[in-house]
Amino acid sequence: TKVTNDETVTKPKKELTATQKARIERNRQKALLLRQSRLSQQQLLGTKTTTGCSRVIDTGGGFLLEENPDVKPRKLNRVEEPAPVIAGDDSICLECDKPFQDSYLLTTYDHQVCDKCRDPEEKHSVITKTEARETYLLSEVDITKREPILKYVVRKNPHNRRWGDMKLYLRLQIEERALEVWKTPEALEEERDSREQKREIAKKKKFNKNMKKLRQEVRSSLFEVKSNVHTHVFGPEIQSETDEDIYTKTCIECDHQITFEKM
Ligand SMILES: [Zn+2]
Ligand SMILES: [Zn+2]
Repeated sequence: TKVTNDETVTKPKKELTATQKARIERNRQKALLLRQSRLSQQQLLGTKTTTGCSRVIDTGGGFLLEENPDVKPRKLNRVEEPAPVIAGDDSICLECDKPFQDSYLLTTYDHQVCDKCRDPEEKHSVITKTEARETYLLSEVDITKREPILKYVVRKNPHNRRWGDMKLYLRLQIEERALEVWKTPEALEEERDSREQKREIAKKKKFNKNMKKLRQEVRSSLFEVKSNVHTHVFGPEIQSETDEDIYTKTCIECDHQITFEKM
């Protein structure tokens, strides 16, 4: 069999001149240089723009080519930049308008009030989560999930250590939240009234239901007492063998015996 080889086919073509050979060689060298420079550029770019597994390659055509388009680029391990430092990093107190560095209310509840203005008895008093739910008709979600998430302090329950921890919220913030949920204090009041009414109705219904049940029970127990009263069913009267005036008769159901005189 005859093997056709490209080389053997092209070989018989006319010989290249020295000038032609030289030009080809120059072009080859140029191309090689170009390729090399492009490669090193790619490597440079590659190390700079590596995102996860895929590498972005500069095609040189004005757009970037992703080497592994199937692989989703992983999230870049971005380094969170520290929050910009505000000059002096002081907070301004909401009560006295004076700058302050740090305070109990700020660190505990994110509430910008200095320690001098803190009023734990009145304005900055705390309430438990249960109290917040009942007084301001807030749901668990309203208190714990709604943004901004309200901060709380955990305390042991003073009434009973086994009842678990109490979560103490800043009343002021709970009131703000309630206003967010109910829009106006009047709406909250209305809802509270309507719930109170419903509770009253439910209470009455339950009371009436219990009364009815009680009456039924009394009636049926009276009925049972009545039906339990036994009426003797006496058998034949039997004359005494020793005294002919004395008779006895026995209940055929309970063996109760009575003796009587018959003249
Ligand atoms: Zn203050
Ligand atoms: Zn009887």
